[in-house]
Amino acid sequence: MTKKKYRIETTCPKCGCSAVNHLSSEEIKEKFGDVPNVDMECHECLLQYSTPMETACPEWDKECRLKGQ
Ligand SMILES: [Zn+2]
Repeated sequence: MTKKKYRIETTCPKCGCSAVNHLSSEEIKEKFGDVPNVDMECHECLLQYSTPMETACPEWDKECRLKGQ
């Protein structure tokens, strides 16, 4: 199996600073679980916020839904 990496991009609602993570499906499951939201902490202002997976990583969200069906 190939280790596909998904690009997860989030933007802090307070300071607008964006964070990009490249994670494999295993890492996503480990880090975020099977929840529809990505919980992040801004590295600039330390605000904790959550972003819908649909927005953060549409590709993973799509595959996740396909698997669940
Ligand atoms: Zn911030």
